Amino acid sequence: MSNGIVYLVGAGPGDPSLITLRGVECLKKADVVVYDYLANELLLSHAPASAERIYAGKIGGRHNQGQDEINSLLVAKGRDGKIVVRLKGGDPFVFGRGGEECEALRDAGIPFEVIPGVTAAVGASAYSGIPLTHRDITASVAFVTGQEGKGKEESNIDWDRLSLGGGTVVFYMGVTTLRNNMQRMMTHGRSPDTPVALVRWATTPCQQVLVGTLADIADKAESSGFKPPAVTIVGEVVALREKLQWFDRRPLCGKKIIVTRAAEQAGEFSGSLAARGATVLECPTIRLAEPESWQLLDLAIRDLPSYNWVVLTSGNAVRYFFQRMNTLGADARALANCRICAVGPKTADEIRSFGIKPDLIPADYTAEGVVHEFSRLDMQNMRVLFPRADRARNVIPSELKRMGAHVDSPVAYRNIFPERLPPETLFALEKRSVDCITFTSSSTVQNLAAMLGEELMLDMLKGVVVASIGPITSKSCRDLGLKVDIEPASYTLAALAAALEAHFS
Ligand code: SAH
Repeated sequence: MSNGIVYLVGAGPGDPSLITLRGVECLKKADVVVYDYLANELLLSHAPASAERIYAGKIGGRHNQGQDEINSLLVAKGRDGKIVVRLKGGDPFVFGRGGEECEALRDAGIPFEVIPGVTAAVGASAYSGIPLTHRDITASVAFVTGQEGKGKEESNIDWDRLSLGGGTVVFYMGVTTLRNNMQRMMTHGRSPDTPVALVRWATTPCQQVLVGTLADIADKAESSGFKPPAVTIVGEVVALREKLQWFDRRPLCGKKIIVTRAAEQAGEFSGSLAARGATVLECPTIRLAEPESWQLLDLAIRDLPSYNWVVLTSGNAVRYFFQRMNTLGADARALANCRICAVGPKTADEIRSFGIKPDLIPADYTAEGVVHEFSRLDMQNMRVLFPRADRARNVIPSELKRMGAHVDSPVAYRNIFPERLPPETLFALEKRSVDCITFTSSSTVQNLAAMLGEELMLDMLKGVVVASIGPITSKSCRDLGLKVDIEPASYTLAALAAALEAHFS
């Protein structure tokens, strides 16, 4: 008895967040994913690591022959009892040959379901700021293949009706046949002045939009070397783009930015750059790990009531410290007698999330800032606990000791650096297509130099805008021979993202 089933899932037009929740659910339980050229590969990360991934473009050589082989593959995998996701660009039933695949499955008695997706015309419409219908302009829209009639005498398309009446027309697969199709619309009565937009790689960071008219768009496309995949939107609605364009107006649109961070932490910052339109390449230069031994930290945690101050200088320190307390069976009450110093607003927030209000948040988020604040207090004989990273600077312990305090600074976590850059980041650097690189701590720049070698790093970053989170990191950049172009006035990720926006707009 076989439980095999095939889900035809619409992947959406390109932006990986435009897939449906149902589509993601199916991917999560897939044994096999058969995916297309147009389906964003990032979506494969929803599937279990163990799932078999098959690129449909590699099956068979020619188009038609390929389709038969895909149908047979889906049937065979389904018969094997597999949960198969057939991931197709856009919507499976809009020029996606999903109908043929379902027919083959039905004929073979394999159960299937179809999950719709945002089709390219709809994605392109939204992300180019061209509504396909508009109360004052047009009440109808047609999706048409641009390939029909290639080598065919008879056309299934009613060109008269398509051309007259003023409805919006969206051509799929129509870049190579653009001139022909525009000509046909004019011959059949549509005005040569009708606005036309070509939208390429819609909804992705590489989206390109070319605007013209029925009369001149083919020339424009030819002279600019415009390539597939693109949809062609024909109709008066195209004029609305001038007012409604938003995607390509975002401040970091078209910028490729490398984010060097600990792998575990990059998400939020990268997200804030992506939301501003940037293409983000994450380049982990640090991985976090437990200390080689917990002994010193454990001693300190067991002895917490004897400390007057606990100094926490990063979100990582907070998380590792509280996790360890938890492991040892202690909770926030163990800190009842201690005052807490938090460096930076994020660190403070992290501490609050454990139910504790920091007593001291230095205005300057550096070790020197911490020292300055403590220099105004009487630190004589105060006991200070400073759970820290293994590579942390020694400024805080040594300066507090000079003020007469007893300082314990056990390692709460380690920074380990990976040996290699992710291939797509290296590739972008080699192609010189990177606009900006961000460094958010000294170790990010030092580790990158260690990973690439100093000389190669300097060479690869020639012409790349260097953004550093604050003066200490900037100094580390300069020590390695890098010129710092961007440094925000306050040393937070939010301020760094805003400074990037200001720099590029
Ligand atoms: N099933 C798909 C269409 C497949 S046909 C859907 O519903 O979108 C392939 C054609 O789709 C391409 O030639 C192009 O015209 C269009 N297309 C797909 N993705 C696109 C994208 N991101 N931007 C512009 N056009 C796209």
